[in-house]
Amino acid sequence: MYTLDTILPYINHSKISMPFPQTTFSVLAYDTRKIRVGDHCLFFALVQQRDGHRYIPEAYEKGVRSFVISDTEFDVRLYPGANFVWVENTLRALQEIAAYHRSHFSIPIIGITGSNGKTIVKTWLHQLISAEYNCYQSPKSYNSQLGVALSLWNLTAEHKIALIEAGVSKAGEMAVLEEMIQPTMGIFTSIGPAHQGGFDSLEQKFQEKWKLFKRAKTVVAPSSVWSHSLEEYRDCITWGREDSDDLQLLELHRDRDSTILELLYKKQVFSLSVPFIDKASIDNVLTCTLVMLTLGYGIDVIKIRILALRPLEMRLQLKKGKYNNSIIDDTYSNDLASLQIALDFLAQQNQSSIKRLILSDFEGEEWTKSSILKLADMLNVQPLDQIILVGSRLEPVKENLSIPSLLFESTDALLESLQHLSLVDSVLLLKGGRKFELERVSRLLVEKSHDTILEINLKALENNLSQYRSCLKKGVKIMAMVKAFSYGSGSFEIANVLQFNKVDYLTVAFVDEGAELRRAGITLPIMVLSPHEGTFDDILLYRLEPEIYSLRILKSFVAFLKERSIEAYPVHLKLDTGMHRLGFMKDEIEDALTIVRSTLSIRVATLFSHLVGAGSDTLKSFTIEQISLFEHMATEIESSLGYTVIKHICNTSCIVHHPEAHYDMVRLGIGAYGFDMAPNGLQLEEVGSLKTTITQIKHLSKTETVGYDRRGVLLRDSKIATVKIGYADGYDRRLGNGVGTMLINGESVSTIGNICMDMCMLDVTDIDAKEGDEVLVFPDLDQVAHNIGTIPYELLTGISSRVKRVYFYE
Ligand SMILES: *Cc1c(COP(=O)(O)O)cnc(C)c1O
Repeated sequence: MYTLDTILPYINHSKISMPFPQTTFSVLAYDTRKIRVGDHCLFFALVQQRDGHRYIPEAYEKGVRSFVISDTEFDVRLYPGANFVWVENTLRALQEIAAYHRSHFSIPIIGITGSNGKTIVKTWLHQLISAEYNCYQSPKSYNSQLGVALSLWNLTAEHKIALIEAGVSKAGEMAVLEEMIQPTMGIFTSIGPAHQGGFDSLEQKFQEKWKLFKRAKTVVAPSSVWSHSLEEYRDCITWGREDSDDLQLLELHRDRDSTILELLYKKQVFSLSVPFIDKASIDNVLTCTLVMLTLGYGIDVIKIRILALRPLEMRLQLKKGKYNNSIIDDTYSNDLASLQIALDFLAQQNQSSIKRLILSDFEGEEWTKSSILKLADMLNVQPLDQIILVGSRLEPVKENLSIPSLLFESTDALLESLQHLSLVDSVLLLKGGRKFELERVSRLLVEKSHDTILEINLKALENNLSQYRSCLKKGVKIMAMVKAFSYGSGSFEIANVLQFNKVDYLTVAFVDEGAELRRAGITLPIMVLSPHEGTFDDILLYRLEPEIYSLRILKSFVAFLKERSIEAYPVHLKLDTGMHRLGFMKDEIEDALTIVRSTLSIRVATLFSHLVGAGSDTLKSFTIEQISLFEHMATEIESSLGYTVIKHICNTSCIVHHPEAHYDMVRLGIGAYGFDMAPNGLQLEEVGSLKTTITQIKHLSKTETVGYDRRGVLLRDSKIATVKIGYADGYDRRLGNGVGTMLINGESVSTIGNICMDMCMLDVTDIDAKEGDEVLVFPDLDQVAHNIGTIPYELLTGISSRVKRVYFYE
């Protein structure tokens, strides 16, 4: 807890209005949706993605009384009793406070950066050294300008060492992170082309990242990260294959599922057994080993602990559970910060109003009276119906809970009683440390998974949304297209994220799709593109808003509403400006307007049209014609209606290409899922990854053939893998015979023979592959689509419903 007046000297402010300078705060808030109770929050009106000043009324409503803002015009008289600090840059102020907090600690603070492996090295090190140190690690992948500040804020006097991850996406960012973290020791994991985006060259990226170690006394890195031009950076502790390396890798023997490393450290040769075989994991283990050696750990201890490492499922997963539950599975680590993230994700879920938490004890935590109370306080303000605690040390937490709770001594005890707990019809968060093996509970609660899954990255969806948001002028709304099962990626799972992130409208193709979202608790307005007479009842029942595209549907909907004496029902008028699919042509407008003006039953909520080729250069002049025709028609309609309506014409590719056509709203479709033919500088992330596994491997001589009709002709003795995906799953039959490629252990392989209904075969002769290995089915969706003469839309929406969707949120 700090008081406002103590921190004031540490932030660069221009003005204050502070009736109560002694106000204390312990929470740095920037997102009103995450505020449960307002006192003790210091709210920062961040302006990076949305203008945080707009959320001040809501924060005040929730009890927040201390604000850091940048808008000099902001009228604070509306907020009696509240404290305001004006700064030039609110994010900077938040970082300054985090840096001030960090300055109170003289413990080792280890800064971790690199292109890949940061999060895994951090999490593994935490596991490896927790027995000796009360070790703090920054939660999940909180490594950005904001994430690092929030991470540091969680440091407490009980921590003896801290692992802080730092990530940068463009030049200039690391200096700010370094100022905050001030690492006493550094770890550089790797350098690679990942996130090349904001850098001119690999050298520039490397130099930027290295700035994290400005003050660090020791830096651990693989020697392979230096190219010749970077000799000057050589001053640190390294691992690698060279004689000059502090930890030298002499030999490496790969087995079926483990690797033996022969290593040399300070003239001592030893072998280390590693429970992984992939290169990335082995690199990360070597980094961790050298850090442990540097911290003074003995080789024997290191051997035992490395052997116990497990690959991390580092993500919060949302799964379909048995008994009508949704399960949020987050069973790899547990601490206050990551618990908060998981609880926030739980709060976003609307599909059931009953919310439960199963929570294990925290590994390595030495509970004190104050930390017990802190946990109980945090839980008591959550919208939870039941809390199930695992671990007898949590007894005092239970005593302080006001929410109905149960306590089990161990995971075994919970498993024994599980069937009597009637865990049905709820959203259930499973949150536990690795040691507690809550994944055993998850296995019993989650529906069995098929080997072929479509992984959906909800964080990527959020990222894409904010990328497009950053292209829009203030006030322009977003309608998110969730038709066709959200382009194949899910129903309420996607809609919950969009609703939480405040899009303005959702759009579905059919009434059924909208009804499903309503039943799952989605409250946003929902437009239906293709309504028809038979579905009007459901439109009313589920408060859906129809697209009105013809005189016939207009007349029948008005008549339908009139019979029920319904007035001002929102509808969306579709104008045909050249697509010639649905919509009113120019010469039909007058008749339509006559009907609209003469009835009270409907109110035109929006006017819109659709472009035929917004992303195409060759169709540019046609697009411009469509836009101007739309503008012309819309102006005429508005003036005839006598009220203004929301106008929209842009789909994804139009957003970037025709900012002049954003009007009041844009319709974001495929871009939200990570695809845009010409994203022009936007950094999109693919939301879905289709994955399967190798079922069997065969060694065949060159005289054999593979698959139906002997189409898979071998030209050499070959190793052939059968994978569990076929055309019935949405793997197009045209991708057979070498047209399709998949990725196994980072290597590209081609199909061989015809695609079967439920399976297909891959030529894996040239790569390391074994049964059970994971296979990425569409490593480059644009390219695959192009190869068979279609578009990513068709492939995405064609992934069949029998392919299980697994959602995660990083
Ligand atoms: C599908 C659809 C969109 C979204 O198109 P994207 O190219 O996926 O952005 C927009 N408007 C209408 C009417 C649509 O049917």
